[in-house]
Amino acid sequence: MEALSVFTSKSSTHFCLISTEMTNKEVGMEVQEQHNTIHWFRKGLRFHDNPSLLHALRTSRHVYPVYILDLDFMKDFKIRCGANQWRFMIQCLEDLDERLRKYGLRLFVVRGSAETFFREQFRRWNITQLTHDVETEHYHRFRDAAVRKIATDAGVEVVNYVAHTLYNIDKIIEYNGGTAPLTYRKFQKVLRDFGAPPQASEMATAEHFANCSLPPEDLHDEKYDMVTLEELGVKCENPFKFVGGETEGLRRVEKHLQNQGWITQFEKPKTAPTSLLPSTTGLSPYFSVGCLSVRYFYHRLNNIYAKAKDHSLPPVSLQGQLLWREFFYVAAAQTPNFVVMAGNPICLQIPWYENKEHLRRWRHAETGFPWIDAIMSQLQQEGWIHHLARHAVACFLTRGDLWISWEEGQKVFEELLLDADYSVNAGNWMWLSGSAFYHQYTRIFCPVRFGKRTDPNGTFIRAYLPVLKDFPAQYIYEPWKAPLKVQEAAGCIVGRDYPFPMVDHEIVSQQNLELMREIREQQRQITLLTLEGREDESSTSTDGGDSRKRKRPVHPANDDEIIKVVVTTAL
Ligand code: FAD
Repeated sequence: MEALSVFTSKSSTHFCLISTEMTNKEVGMEVQEQHNTIHWFRKGLRFHDNPSLLHALRTSRHVYPVYILDLDFMKDFKIRCGANQWRFMIQCLEDLDERLRKYGLRLFVVRGSAETFFREQFRRWNITQLTHDVETEHYHRFRDAAVRKIATDAGVEVVNYVAHTLYNIDKIIEYNGGTAPLTYRKFQKVLRDFGAPPQASEMATAEHFANCSLPPEDLHDEKYDMVTLEELGVKCENPFKFVGGETEGLRRVEKHLQNQGWITQFEKPKTAPTSLLPSTTGLSPYFSVGCLSVRYFYHRLNNIYAKAKDHSLPPVSLQGQLLWREFFYVAAAQTPNFVVMAGNPICLQIPWYENKEHLRRWRHAETGFPWIDAIMSQLQQEGWIHHLARHAVACFLTRGDLWISWEEGQKVFEELLLDADYSVNAGNWMWLSGSAFYHQYTRIFCPVRFGKRTDPNGTFIRAYLPVLKDFPAQYIYEPWKAPLKVQEAAGCIVGRDYPFPMVDHEIVSQQNLELMREIREQQRQITLLTLEGREDESSTSTDGGDSRKRKRPVHPANDDEIIKVVVTTAL
């Protein structure tokens, strides 16, 4: 297993890539060192596959598990976090705290800046070692460098392990000549040389905690007690379908893994965006904050595949989905300004419209297209929507209908999605808006027909837009077409109780298509950067890489994304 280890002393800092085998040997030797360690939880909020936590436990007499809540840092780097996310995060922290307390430790929730905290607390707690996961986001790297400097000055060793991704992202980039492979196929080619991802490390158990303790005065220090929604001034009354925490994440994984037929036959394009429970795994919130390890899940899938007669393959399989995640992590780590358009070398520079009112209506589920509004309403309430539902609303906001920048959509998703993820969110928004990675720009999702295919009765719409619940199936996707009598009988008059469609989809989508065609011709060089090659223009896609070779009609009205759908609600 690859791990990045950074050893720091007062005089020098050494970065070296080492294998876990080596590390574990070293860990064995270091036991005598009896460090006082701060283990800094950022993501990686878990006991399973957490090599830096294991390292802390194996080499220390005192371990201080710390989570730093730095609202100014979030503000400085414009990191958004909505009410549902705060609630999910606090549940994750509570779960972690509970697990730690079983073994005589606790979680120290620090309020304020990481730099200030470490500067003071290294001395107060007599710390000799700091352990944490490797993070790849630019703001994490920036902060980690500052903290490393503080540690160096204080004579504190810093030990990092890669655990949030399947592979060591930096090594992939290095192996690929210092650049990120920018198509899924090129990425797979590189991975072939790497082999399977490293195994997950073992679960931290009572045995690992046996020699670690906390001085009683620190154990009971109320200053670092759990944060609450009240303290943050956040109200969240939405019902929740996702309970945060490793305990719940592992429970969900086990439940899915029992359904081996579903696991082996999983093909992303055949899952339904209109299902009332996730028709995919619904594990993304857990992966996103690191309650669940992607390596752990990947290898558990491998075990099932090994016993099966046959199984689906990337890009459509479940392992293929994890590779999509990895793909975007690699691209984000190496591409300057990955989360914005300006200064982003792989992103088409598109003169998007600025229209605050249109953006507001999209965000608040007031577009007048029930399929789009039901999805946005699900997002507001529950913080999770199906991948193809994300396709529908993202396409609608950008190249499909409203021609509003993907950055605006990305911001809304960042705030509302429980699984909001710096690299994956930006990568997918560029994809859906046709700005990078995706080149079948003539495929525009129809806000009426898309949902109808898997849910002709409109059950999904009725659930998330109760105002339309009594419309007959014939009009549920287009209530404005219903005769007044039908609207009256349904108790909903369009224009009064529910808006008229905010645009004429047939007209705007055709105009947008023409605009996109021109822009792509003008910026051909940029499109080539993330283009797979001729044959791939019709084969690779984040909707699971539907490789059916179909002739695509050019007119957006003829779009059809999903042909056959298997609905499997696995939770
Ligand atoms: P499954 O299909 O069960 O897949 C398992 C895991 O694979 C997911 O949990 C996720 O970690 C990963 N995965 C699946 N699809 C993708 C993909 N297309 N790209 C990268 N990783 C993938 N996903 C996020 O985790 N965070 C985001 O912020 C995010 N923003 C998105 C924005 C847009 C516009 C779109 C179109 C997609 C976005 N996705 C994002 C990707 C994808 O929609 C979700 O990961 C997926 O729907 C989560 O559901 P699941 O866990 O049931 O996925």
